[in-house]
Amino acid sequence: MTDRVIPLADHRYAASVPRVPSLAAAPSGLLSDRLGRPLRDLRISVTDRCNFRCGYCMPREVFDKDYAFLPHSSLLSFEEITRTARLFVAHGVRKIRLTGGEPLLRKDVERLIEMLAALRTPDGAPLDLTLTTNGSLLARKARALKDAGLTRVTVSLDALDDAIFRRMNDADFPVADVLRSIEEAQRVGFAPVKVNMVVKRGTNDDEIVPMARHFRGSGIVLRFIEYMDVGASNGWRMDEVLPSAQVIERIAAAHPVEAIDAQAVGETAERWRYVDGQGEIGVISSVTQAFCRDCNRARLSTEGKLFLCLFASHGHDLRALLRGGYSDPQIAAAIAPIWQQRADRYSELRGAAGPGTEAADTGRRRVEMHYIGG
Ligand code: SAM
Ligand code: SF4
Ligand code: SF4
Repeated sequence: MTDRVIPLADHRYAASVPRVPSLAAAPSGLLSDRLGRPLRDLRISVTDRCNFRCGYCMPREVFDKDYAFLPHSSLLSFEEITRTARLFVAHGVRKIRLTGGEPLLRKDVERLIEMLAALRTPDGAPLDLTLTTNGSLLARKARALKDAGLTRVTVSLDALDDAIFRRMNDADFPVADVLRSIEEAQRVGFAPVKVNMVVKRGTNDDEIVPMARHFRGSGIVLRFIEYMDVGASNGWRMDEVLPSAQVIERIAAAHPVEAIDAQAVGETAERWRYVDGQGEIGVISSVTQAFCRDCNRARLSTEGKLFLCLFASHGHDLRALLRGGYSDPQIAAAIAPIWQQRADRYSELRGAAGPGTEAADTGRRRVEMHYIGG
């Protein structure tokens, strides 16, 4: 074990304070975990709050007015996030995604983007800097985000039908406003804009073909995500998962598609294109086809805990180091063994053992999606 397990004041998820090695080797950028996977992608949750209550993520019965969201003092500051990101870049990270909760609810998030956009890889290249949003505030913020240096944006949208969408976001938020955000994102020059649709059988699967039709030929890449058993709040059931293979079948029956190769190792989406040249779609089959083998993603929670898997129940408290007077080389040296000892492959194990399988370090509550981001 690398970590000393220290009980924390906030017991929402188990975390331990990483051990700081006495001899700090400089980051080589070549870390790999126990399954030989490099560290390339860092997802940073900038808030645990959201103005939507999507049932698959923050069901209103659980996340009600009495729910204790993190106090402001617990959140990593922009300076702390940027410092941590810089250390991860030294360790090999090339892509940073801001997420949440709803990342655009974090005050002045464009200032954070500006700070992250100034980071460079050891070869002097800028990062791939992206953000996932529910689109509620994007029409207003797209220009500022682009000017701050955000490279790409992904908007979540689960239906075109207004009644279905309002029911799914459970905040009575209209489709038209999200569509306006998507248009604005394209207008200010994000390319390509991606749209994520979580498919729940019996809830919005009739929207698959209308969504595909709407975004065909628009330059927007629509991606269908299998409804996942993240966290412990959403009452997930396998019979509500529509396998991606069936999503593709339904679309192909209306508009023929063919598979295309992945752009990068560790890419979560399987890519398809319309045979008639009207663009591309993707499917993310986290339930029916595990993609742990190439998973190069680390996740940093809003309060600075590092999680090595979306289904982890145990984090590594980097904030304790950031606020504990340690130097950058010391913190970088503490991060290295955490990644090197990583063996997480929850989706693969779930595939083998059946859905509902506990996280590898069982007995603890699994992390929630709004806390750790997608
Ligand atoms: N609030 C932002 C949004 O909705 O885009 C960013 C955070 S949200 C947690 C990130 C992504 O996770 C969204 O695309 C959302 O649809 C997806 N997501 C949340 N819960 C999910 C679940 N149970 N299964 C699959 N995807 C989920
Ligand atoms: Fe909010 Fe995104 Fe979760 Fe929906 S999926 S509740 S928009 S954080
Ligand atoms: Fe990566 Fe964990 Fe998802 Fe597997 S289950 S792809 S290891 S985040």
